[in-house]
Amino acid sequence: MLKLVFTVAVLVVIYFIFFKKKKPKVGKNEQSTEDMVECSKCGVYTSIEEAYISSGKYYCSKECLRLK
Ligand SMILES: [Zn+2]
Repeated sequence: MLKLVFTVAVLVVIYFIFFKKKKPKVGKNEQSTEDMVECSKCGVYTSIEEAYISSGKYYCSKECLRLK
């Protein structure tokens, strides 16, 4: 009986470790894949929040924006 309780406790701890670690990672991946835009200059994918927008086109950096 004690062994069973111990096993369940270990499983609960493992479950919590995985649950806590996985949840933010999945959220980040979903966000980054949804909001990715292609740089009009070099074709590199950048998150929309970090991208530079000029005349309806996205650029990954100020360098690409300048060289467009
Ligand atoms: Zn670029």
